[in-house]
Amino acid sequence: MERIRLADDLTFSRLIHGCWRLADWGYSREQLLSLIEFCLERGITTFDHADIYGDYTCESRFGEALALKPSLRGQIEIVTKCGIKLPSKYGMKLYDTSKTHIIASVEQSLAHFRTDYIDVLLIHRPDPFMNPEEVAEAFVRLKQDGKVRYFGVSNFKRSQWEMLQSYLPFPLVTNQIEVSAYRLENLEDGTVDLCLEKRIPPMVWSPLARGAIFSADDDRAVRLRGTLEQVRSEVGAETIDEVLYAWLLVHPARMMPIVGSGKRERIERAVRALSLSLSREQWFAILQSSMGHDVP
Ligand code: NAP
Repeated sequence: MERIRLADDLTFSRLIHGCWRLADWGYSREQLLSLIEFCLERGITTFDHADIYGDYTCESRFGEALALKPSLRGQIEIVTKCGIKLPSKYGMKLYDTSKTHIIASVEQSLAHFRTDYIDVLLIHRPDPFMNPEEVAEAFVRLKQDGKVRYFGVSNFKRSQWEMLQSYLPFPLVTNQIEVSAYRLENLEDGTVDLCLEKRIPPMVWSPLARGAIFSADDDRAVRLRGTLEQVRSEVGAETIDEVLYAWLLVHPARMMPIVGSGKRERIERAVRALSLSLSREQWFAILQSSMGHDVP
């Protein structure tokens, strides 16, 4: 599988496996290990987590599976996030990007994963109370201690990215953002442009719009399904999932879709999408059916 370069000694697999829903899959440690190996056999080596996923349980479930075969740690890249505090643990939801919280969160993630290092740590959401000097101090400390190799952000708009970057002594390596044929905001508001300008490949979350594309009955979803089905038959894909992934993969921003399903056949569909190529006309047909009108 194609690798995407994020730094001199860091590449991600073009497709990333997302572990937000891992607690819902009901897998035993052995079954989860088998799923990780299934991904690796297909070239998916990058796994996306957050401290809060599964109400703070997903990282440790993943770590328990890895502990069954410790040699896998060197074959994968672990991405995790911090900065959100959930009511389950803290009484109310809030953001915390203080130096103390970032460092404590990473220490906990390391313990959960049973590893010495995180490949990339992301600030999960822009924090309106962020002190960028503290974020920079935390990042520098974590890098010096060898606990985090690289840093990025998630859901940051241009001003938030540029503000934080201006305090850091090293470049942020990615912005994890939502993009799908159903959710166009980051394509329309300049966030994807920012990634292109900074030569930062974005990690793309909810590439299938959390499954809404398959079931929603709003006009946009209904129109989109019709166009996706038409393009599916034109390119010889088996499912519209593949067309949805291909629509992201052919974009020049080198998007890295994060596959959110724990089902093998659905992961295979994402892998098959890597060999599809959509024409410019097909790409615009999907865009315009989502927008509900011609491009301006
Ligand atoms: P997604 O691929 O858009 O949605 C996955 C959902 O769609 C699952 O519930 C899946 O069900 C369902 N689905 C997939 N194929 C389907 C089909 N053919 N028919 C019906 N339903 C289908 O991705 P996501 O899970 O929302 O997000 C992917 C990853 O992005 C997450 O795991 C997480 O790592 C990351 N993420 C990050 C943020 C952030 O703020 N940074 C936010 C959200 C997510 P099954 O599970 O039954 O297959």
